[in-house]
Amino acid sequence: MSPSAQGDDDRRAERVADDFHRIYGGSPDGVWAAPGRVNLIGEHTDYNDGFALPIALPQTTLVAARARVDGRLRLHSAQGDGRITELPVAALAPGATTGWARYPAGVVWALAEAGHPVGGADLHFDSTVPTGAGLSSSAALECAVAVAYDELYGLRLPGPALARIAQRAENAFAGVPCGIMDQMASVCCTAEAALHLDARTPQHHRQVPFDLRGQGLGLLVIDTRVAHDLGDGAYAALRAGCERAAALLGLPALRDLPAGELPQALRDLPEALAPLVRHVVTENARVEEAVSRLRAGDAAALGPILTAGHASLRDDYRISCPETDLAVSAALGAGALGARMTGGGFGGSVIALLEAGREGEVGASVTAAFDAAGHRPPRLFAVAPAAGARRMHPRTPSTPAPAPARSAPFPRRTQ
Ligand code: ADP
Ligand code: MG
Repeated sequence: MSPSAQGDDDRRAERVADDFHRIYGGSPDGVWAAPGRVNLIGEHTDYNDGFALPIALPQTTLVAARARVDGRLRLHSAQGDGRITELPVAALAPGATTGWARYPAGVVWALAEAGHPVGGADLHFDSTVPTGAGLSSSAALECAVAVAYDELYGLRLPGPALARIAQRAENAFAGVPCGIMDQMASVCCTAEAALHLDARTPQHHRQVPFDLRGQGLGLLVIDTRVAHDLGDGAYAALRAGCERAAALLGLPALRDLPAGELPQALRDLPEALAPLVRHVVTENARVEEAVSRLRAGDAAALGPILTAGHASLRDDYRISCPETDLAVSAALGAGALGARMTGGGFGGSVIALLEAGREGEVGASVTAAFDAAGHRPPRLFAVAPAAGARRMHPRTPSTPAPAPARSAPFPRRTQ
């Protein structure tokens, strides 16, 4: 990280600690960060035990956190409703709270459910991850709590275990049946690398060097700012369809269908399920192809892989929408090397791989195409592979004290 980016991070963490002081009084024990993510390739594969290749974004959710000895959990977010939600940890259970608080409360519940000795805390969040844009602000929120609690309560859990806890919170507490990819990306990604994830064995993930800038490339995220309502139920239905197809094929998961057996499987399966299976099997192959291209130092070769992935999501998985299709075609028309929708589908964001320096031109073309089609202007972000969840302040962790004692206070700014 450049010294100026480091300075920006430090100032942001200090601001969030100051806000904590205004909200709760006193100082937080620390400030932690967890990023949003974009998935380069490998969409809707994680819940099929398959492969994915996400990167963490520079956009992060910060949490200023302080352990409490009385077993109460207090939650406040700069992006919330302005109120403090207060819950006793001992009474946490799915359904105990609603709204945004179910994501962080769910993490504390999932830690306790897994037998970890956790108590209460005061938590204040502030995020630069856009919400509902397919960039996983929900995972960033959960993973920020997971890493903060890991230190506040001296748990020392490995990254994939924290990701599993955060996923459990999203599944059981927030009621979203997502796979492990979002949380693994937020916790385990490293700067200048993509995370090669095998969802069957997340603990064996690998970092694949992805030196975007060094290879003269850029990555543009185009947030279409649409989220079609059919999203949630449709996600569960797609997942159920994949599980049904695997059962019909006598496989533990679609990941276990070798590409060579795909044609026969497509003949055997009901018409409604065959395209889902074709997407998952070809998408897993695209992840492996992307990893080998990155390892060969040819990141530009990802372009056609991304575009093929979009066609598969549009034609086989059928989860694109007019806005994502238009963002992809306009980006490609403006010279992007490849583009595809990313995230759950039915709206959200598109990523475009391009030659460095062409972000403005490609973004302007997509914006003009949206205008001509009568859509709201998209939001545009140039991104690069950033670090996963981490402590921001104090930079040197104090030795974790046994729960529920408190670690060293955050040094407040004096001016
Ligand atoms: P995505 O994860 O793609 O951004 P989701 O619908 O999964 O979209 O999660 C968005 C939800 O997560 C928001 O509606 C809100 O409830 C919650 N959320 C995310 N970040 C924050 C935040 N910083 N403060 C409060 N709530 C947040
Ligand atoms: Mg989400």
